[in-house]
Amino acid sequence: MSFALTEEQIAIRDMARGFADEKLAPEAVRWDEEKHFPVDVMREAAALGMGGVYVREDVGGSGLSRLDAALIFEALATGCPTISAYISIHNMATWMIDRYGSDEQRHRFVPKLATMEHLASYCLTEPGAGSDAAALKTRAVRDGDSYVVNGVKQFISGAGTADIYVVMLRTGEGGAAGISTLVVEKDTPGLSFGANERKMGWNAQPTRQVIFEDCRVPVANRLGEEGAGFKIAMAGLDGGRLNIGACSLGGAQAALEKSIAYMAERKAFGKRLSDFQALQFKLADMATELEAARTFLWRAAAALDAKALDATRLCAMAKRIATDTGFEVANAALQLHGGYGYLADYGLEKIVRDLRVHQILEGTNEIMRLIVARSLVGRGN
Ligand SMILES: Cc1cc2nc3c(=O)[nH]c(=O)nc-3n(C[C@H](O)[C@H](O)[C@H](O)COP(=O)(O)OP(=O)(O)OC[C@H]3O[C@@H](n4cnc5c(N)ncnc54)[C@H](O)[C@@H]3O)c2cc1C
Repeated sequence: MSFALTEEQIAIRDMARGFADEKLAPEAVRWDEEKHFPVDVMREAAALGMGGVYVREDVGGSGLSRLDAALIFEALATGCPTISAYISIHNMATWMIDRYGSDEQRHRFVPKLATMEHLASYCLTEPGAGSDAAALKTRAVRDGDSYVVNGVKQFISGAGTADIYVVMLRTGEGGAAGISTLVVEKDTPGLSFGANERKMGWNAQPTRQVIFEDCRVPVANRLGEEGAGFKIAMAGLDGGRLNIGACSLGGAQAALEKSIAYMAERKAFGKRLSDFQALQFKLADMATELEAARTFLWRAAAALDAKALDATRLCAMAKRIATDTGFEVANAALQLHGGYGYLADYGLEKIVRDLRVHQILEGTNEIMRLIVARSLVGRGN
C-alpha cells in the first residue's frame, strides 16, 4: 500500500485546483447570492474530463478511479462546494447508466452526459421516504412497451435544468425488492418540476420536486432487471458519498487557507492573530483533523476501486468523518475571522452554509452510523 499520490494523480488534482481557482472561486459568492447555476462553466469542466470521471472511455468518460475522483471533487470544492457537489451528483448518475445500462443505453445517453451537454439528476428521495428510501411509493405500471409513472420525488438536485433523470420507482411489491430504475428524459410528457426550493446553502444549484403524472417511459429506458433498482441506487451512493465527503474536505481546505492568510494580516492587542499560540494550535488541530479525514477517505476510495467486501461500510464511515470534520473546520475558520467571517464578502459563511447539507444528504450521518452499526451488531436495529 502506498500513501503517496502518483505523478499523474498530482497532475489531475492540480488541473482541477487550477480550474477552481480561475473559474469557480472568483464567482462563487455572486452565484450563491443570485442563485445562478453556471451550466456553461460546468461544461468547461467537462471539457477537461470532469463530466464522466469514472465512466468508461468508449462512451466519452475519463476512465479514472474513485481516488482520482476524490482528488478532483476536493479540488473543485475549494472554489465552490455547491458546484463541485452538483458535478459529483451528475457523475454519480452518469456512472449508474454506464455501469448498469446496456451497450445501447450507454451509447444513447452517456456521451452527451460526459460532455455535460446534458446534465443528470439522481431521483431517490420522496416526500414520505428519505432515510427509509426503500419505502418509496412512486409507481411505474407496465403497459405494453412503456411504464406509466405516477408519483413525486423530493429535493432533487439539478431538477428542472437537468436533461436526464435517473429515477428509482416501484414496479413490484413493497420494500427494496420491488424497486426498479428508469432513465427519464426531460421532455417526456407527464414530467414536471416544482418551484426552486429556498435553502440555507447550495444556492448555486436548483433543488426541486420532480413530478410524474401519467408519464410514459419506454421499457427500453430501464437500467438492469426489474427489481434491481435499489441495488443500483445504493451502488451509486457508495461513490456519491465519497464524492460528497471530498467536497466537504475541499470547502474546509479553502476555509483553512483563508484563515492562515487572514491571521497573518489581522492584528489584535498589538500582535498579528497568527502570533497567538492558542490560535496557532487551533490551526494545527484544523489541519490535523482535515488530513486524518482525507487520508481515511482515500482509503475508502481505494477499497471501492478494489471492489473490497467492506467498501460500503468504509464509504459510510468516510462520508460521516469527512462531512462532520469539514463542517467543524469551516465553522472554526469563520470564528477565526471574527465578525468578518460572518460577512458574505469574505466567503466564509457561504462555505459553512454549503457544507452543512453534506451532513444530511446522500444518506444522513445518522444513516451512515446505521450502516456501520449493522455491520458490527447485525441488522436488528
Ligand atoms: C439540498 C438538498 C439536496 C438533495 N438532493 C437530493 C437528490 O439530488 N436526490 C435525492 O434523491 N435526494 C436528495 N436530497 C434528499 C436527502 O438525501 C434527504 O433529505 C436525506 O436522505 C434525509 O431524508 P429526509 O430529509 O426525508 O429526513 P428523514 O428521513 O425524515 O430523517 C429525519 C431525521 O431522522 C433521522 N433518522 C431517520 N431514520 C433514522 C434511523 N433509523 N435511526 C436514526 N436516525 C434516523 C435522520 O438522520 C434525520 O436526522 C437532497 C436534500 C437536500 C436538503
